[in-house]
Amino acid sequence: MQLGSSVSEVHNIGKQRLLYLNNMGIFTVEDLIEHFPREYDDRSDIKTISDLVPNEVNTFIGSLNGNADTIRIKNMVLTRAKITDDTATVNAVWYNQPYLKNTFKDGQRYIFTGKYQHSYGKKEVVSPEYEALDKGELLSGGRIIPVYNTTKGISQKIFRSIIKDTLEKSKNQLVDFIPKCIRMENKLCDRNFAVQNIHFPEDDNSFFTARRRLVFEELFVLQTALLKMKTAVKEGKSGIIIKNEKAEKEISMSIGFELTKAQKKVKEEIKADFVSGKVMNRLVQGDVGSGKTAVAMITSFIAIKEGFQAALMAPTEVLAKQHYYSFKDVFEQFGVNVVYLSGAMKKKEKTDALRAVEDGSAEMVIGTHAVIQKGVTFKNLGFVVTDEQHRFGVNQRILLSQKGNNPHVLVMTATPIPRTLALILYGDLDISIIDELPPGRQEIDTRAVNTSYRPRIYSFIKKEIDKGRQAYVVCPSIEESEKRETEAVIEYAEKLMDYYFKDYKVAVLYGKMKNDEKQSVMEDFANGNIDVLVSTTVIEVGVNVPNATIMLIENAEMFGLSQLHQLRGRVGRGSEQSYCILVSDSKNKVTIERMKVMQKTRDGFVISETDLRLRGPGEFFGTKQHGLPMLKIANLYKDIDILKEAQTAAAKIIEQDSNLEQQDNNLLNEKTNRFFQNRDIGI
Ligand code: ADP
Ligand code: MG
Repeated sequence: MQLGSSVSEVHNIGKQRLLYLNNMGIFTVEDLIEHFPREYDDRSDIKTISDLVPNEVNTFIGSLNGNADTIRIKNMVLTRAKITDDTATVNAVWYNQPYLKNTFKDGQRYIFTGKYQHSYGKKEVVSPEYEALDKGELLSGGRIIPVYNTTKGISQKIFRSIIKDTLEKSKNQLVDFIPKCIRMENKLCDRNFAVQNIHFPEDDNSFFTARRRLVFEELFVLQTALLKMKTAVKEGKSGIIIKNEKAEKEISMSIGFELTKAQKKVKEEIKADFVSGKVMNRLVQGDVGSGKTAVAMITSFIAIKEGFQAALMAPTEVLAKQHYYSFKDVFEQFGVNVVYLSGAMKKKEKTDALRAVEDGSAEMVIGTHAVIQKGVTFKNLGFVVTDEQHRFGVNQRILLSQKGNNPHVLVMTATPIPRTLALILYGDLDISIIDELPPGRQEIDTRAVNTSYRPRIYSFIKKEIDKGRQAYVVCPSIEESEKRETEAVIEYAEKLMDYYFKDYKVAVLYGKMKNDEKQSVMEDFANGNIDVLVSTTVIEVGVNVPNATIMLIENAEMFGLSQLHQLRGRVGRGSEQSYCILVSDSKNKVTIERMKVMQKTRDGFVISETDLRLRGPGEFFGTKQHGLPMLKIANLYKDIDILKEAQTAAAKIIEQDSNLEQQDNNLLNEKTNRFFQNRDIGI
């Protein structure tokens, strides 16, 4: 069997199973053997029947004592058998598999794995998996058993045997695409050995060796692909030179505050990129409220005064509009034309906006995804900013940077990501960090309470409103369906309007609302015409209303820590003391610990590290927000050491051969080229 052969050539795969496998993305023999186990089941401990542990899954060997029989109970068929070894006899039972009666033969020996149930006075092994002992190497017991992600129509048992068979018939054909020097240096085992042992480990040691090799391989390819892209971007094109000291002085005067040290540092990094002759590709990570917008504003202004167009793209209409107004406020004093662009605009407005973008009279273009659509042509785009980067995919970012003639690209995110992970997510970018908040920010008083506190919370909110403040209430974002979510928010808001907050102005905001409705609610809230804004997480990103001092989050356990942190960042933006109240009735230990962390710290990096530790990367990145590439085997939390090794190795290879043109790197080159094609990654 060749690696490239269709899986239809594999024994036991007929039309139907072929279809199932294809649906899983498995087409060739190679795809199949690179479908690694999801987890393992340790069945190496074989018990005697007298030693079976009650109410646990046991593996044991025994012979059929007589033939199996079947009985009918209601609409069920039970198959029963007695199984004996030197020590004792035990009953086994299977449901609705009448054919088993003829499968088992009196006196034949099998290895079984199943739960030994003691209940209602009965003692029996329930639906054990079985495998005849005379068939050569055992697959279902006496060893560590691989467990696969599989689909309906192919059981674990079948999957296991298909893989085993395929591995045997396609032995030693895998070629190694990791260059030899890297393999030696990092003590990686042979690829064939690794794939063999990831499925059916000979022993613990072989398993660890195999896994380490495959994890390394996966991360190494990822890192190499990213680095290659990064160097190509840097080397391939020459960057526009943007330099304008005078513009910087002008704008800095009218921004209304002095930049923090951290803001200044990042601004200088951007300016250095502007004059480097290379194309900038920079990520700014800065906690909520750290003042990323000001940095974007100043640097955009410099680019515009140097004669270029600048563009800012934000993930939501609300946020884009907000940026539009704050840029307009400052830029118009200098006669800079700021133009808004969104998919939701009226036709005429849009046509006008597009024309202005095309003829260059739109100097600062701010908008949503609409900015990267076809048909948007810039005259002279020199600088592009995307805000809240984690909401965009790498492709969108690339689309935007293709809009002009190699414009400089700045991406900003408020999601603090542990540094090593940032390197994976944004490996093709240079990273700047704003690690300081503007002066005078108050600690946000954060409390975690249960629902019995609601009346007290509401009266507290009223007191604050009476002092002139405003409040956000964020309702459970149960992912179930957007419809349910909307209903929940509306219901909640109605309760407040009809009852607790009858005499106050309460409004709702949710994703499904029409854009201009959303916009007008946000404006009303920003202008102080709304006291309590009940919303879904649409307000999570970037919204800035300094007079809002209370953030009440219902069902706080439903949110990731980083998300809670983002939400909390909506308050504490003005000079008044602000509060964040997390409501949850959950008694789950992890939840309790997560709520504690929120009360203890406001450092986004600490919070994201904790989130990662408590929930693991699956959950951490679970909301797809981060667009982390799908990894087959590496676990970014557990495998951080291997990640570091892979990063070092990738850097070394790219340093020696940035386009992977040397012969030794041929296979690796192919692999990295395919990397971005095969995966829908949003970095
Ligand atoms: P984020 O980094 O979350 O996007 P923003 O750019 O929205 O933060 O800034 C948050 C608030 O802080 C805004 O009201 C902004 O005007 C203010 N701000 C930003 N930088 C400073 C500074 N250096 N001094 C005082 N206020 C600042
Ligand atoms: Mg922001």
